[in-house]
Amino acid sequence: MSANNRKPLIAGNWKMNGSLQGSRALVDDLVAGIGGSAAAEMLLCPPAAYLHPVAGWSAASPIKLGGQNLCEQVGSGAFTGEISGDMLRDVGCTYAIVGHSERRTLYGESDAVVARKFLAAQSVGLIPILCVGESLQERESGQTEAVVTRQVDAILKPHGVGLFAAAVIAYEPIWAIGTGKTASPQQAQEVHALIRALIAAQDATIAAGLRILYGGSVKGSNAHELLAQQDIDGGLVGGASLDAADFLKIYQAATG
Ligand code: PEP
Repeated sequence: MSANNRKPLIAGNWKMNGSLQGSRALVDDLVAGIGGSAAAEMLLCPPAAYLHPVAGWSAASPIKLGGQNLCEQVGSGAFTGEISGDMLRDVGCTYAIVGHSERRTLYGESDAVVARKFLAAQSVGLIPILCVGESLQERESGQTEAVVTRQVDAILKPHGVGLFAAAVIAYEPIWAIGTGKTASPQQAQEVHALIRALIAAQDATIAAGLRILYGGSVKGSNAHELLAQQDIDGGLVGGASLDAADFLKIYQAATG
């Protein structure tokens, strides 16, 4: 636990990577590496097809499970190819990523769709991890603050600050995702502080407890300086989460 009482969260987004056999080896290494540590939360978001086996392999460890996405529809029905929040809960998930930039840009998820997914997750007791972040062109044209504010406001304005008492926000500048280019700790901290201020303007207590993760080429070698920032409460990690040793190094940076 850090001085501010926010328990760090290190989340691995495996995206569409891996195999059953490879996932088993990765989870076995992570289970052995984390031991019984509860100083920070470790969360795995494997492809949906592997959620159930990963839940079994990690059952005796403190590792938590999350979906990479969920259907905005609540309940069940004729939605071919979709996975409901209830199903995620059923296989052991406690979190669900919503609004990852790859969902927004490759699958056309608008702020409105992302807001519905956020609500769908919370309606079944999942903690949504809301991803926000600007493109390179938006950063270079000075729109970072406007973009991130718009993405947070899409939930905050119509649905109220109360929802953020049971949510996580991940700031993921698109230009840093999978590119090897990391935001500098100062660049990240600036946006994290802005996000916290947006929430604090509505409710200071909720803002103080809200975990804001940084995502964008986090690795074992840069995790420490990013996580040392006042408003960075963990990481959403793509590529490096597929390497047990590197992911454990990031986890350790959060507990140190
Ligand atoms: C991500 O998938 O959310 C991500 C940040 O990826 P990477 O760590 O590979 O940049």
